[in-house]
Amino acid sequence: MASITIPAIVIRRSDYGDYDRMVTLFSPDMGRVDAIARGCRRPKSPLVNAVEPFTSGEFQLFSLRDRFTLEQCQVSDSYYELRADYDRLCHGVYWLRLLDTSILPDTPMPELFIVTLRALAHLNYGELPPELVTLAFESHLMRLSGLSPRMDACAICQRPIDGDARFDSQLGGAVCLNCLSEAPHISNGARRILMKLPRTQFDKFQLLSQRPEWPEAARLLRSHVNLRLHMDKFAPPLYEETDGR
Ligand SMILES: [Zn+2]
Repeated sequence: MASITIPAIVIRRSDYGDYDRMVTLFSPDMGRVDAIARGCRRPKSPLVNAVEPFTSGEFQLFSLRDRFTLEQCQVSDSYYELRADYDRLCHGVYWLRLLDTSILPDTPMPELFIVTLRALAHLNYGELPPELVTLAFESHLMRLSGLSPRMDACAICQRPIDGDARFDSQLGGAVCLNCLSEAPHISNGARRILMKLPRTQFDKFQLLSQRPEWPEAARLLRSHVNLRLHMDKFAPPLYEETDGR
């Protein structure tokens, strides 16, 4: 029997019994942690806010025989603005789904945790298009999961690429224009965004808002994410489709 306190974000919750909920937490040092929040559906439960998706804070857990019970939570952010904006909320919910498929128990992912907190801060408090924040989040998540597309060399002939190319999700990255391919075209600018973005400090993605190629990069990366993680059903619309709203 032991009590531990860990920083975490709630990525999912489900009803459990009459008054309880099961919450899935993302902890930087423990990865995925499932915990029972007893009585949190009773009126006036002190845990009522602690079990909402997106809530981040310090979670006190009681562990007994590999099972965790949520005892208390010191909430550091609830991301209320996000919940009131349907468009942004769709992006946030999609990220939680991506995390749900990417994190594993007993598998620390401290950098992904920081990226998630930074991305949520931009989505909740920032002015940038949510599609751009999602591009940055997907890009870093794919790198940290070892699934980044390769953009600097041809997936067929292996020669270095320095210019326009094609983007073949099946083959895992760029294909040069000399090789036979029916994959969609990718401009040099979009190719360079996909090459550099995951290797750059997360907050630098803001600079991309000035670059006309970012929606193209977002569209092509989305096809890659869908193929690898099967997220088609949950993915929010791309920028082109919602432009002019
Ligand atoms: Zn080639």
